[in-house]
Amino acid sequence: MNCVFCKIVDGEIPSYKVYEDDNVYAFLDINPLTKGHTVVIPKNHSETLMDLEDDQVNNLFLAIKRISQHLEKVLEPAGLNIGINMRKYAGQVVDHLHVHILPRFEGDNGGSIHSIVNNPPKETLEEILDKVEM
Ligand code: 5GP
Ligand code: ZN
Repeated sequence: MNCVFCKIVDGEIPSYKVYEDDNVYAFLDINPLTKGHTVVIPKNHSETLMDLEDDQVNNLFLAIKRISQHLEKVLEPAGLNIGINMRKYAGQVVDHLHVHILPRFEGDNGGSIHSIVNNPPKETLEEILDKVEM
């Protein structure tokens, strides 16, 4: 498969490895948005979170927790954002599921998750809940 992140897992493309276990690989983003910007991926190719096997979701999110704890300890950021771009329209460039961990520092001029989009619905919350309640 011609996937840049599969190649990173296989060692065909070098990376600055932050963490690795049997199921998960994490490395420094090549174009860091902040100090310690880390990309966490499942080793098995999967395009989005929705495609990932349930047990792999557990492994991925446990690793994200561990890595976040570690980054907080060693970099002492003022905060952290964790995010996934899924599908092209939402900014996914590499089609292998990956989770960005972004340590945040005072005065970094960044925003919150609320700054990604501002497109409030015309429908009421009740109308929307009719469609989305599980
Ligand atoms: P996306 O927009 O798909 O969520 O983000 C993909 C991320 O992967 C980008 O932040 C980009 O800098 C990073 N990236 C793409 N190719 C490579 C690579 O070969 N090595 C590393 N370390 N990061 C990469
Ligand atoms: Zn892949």
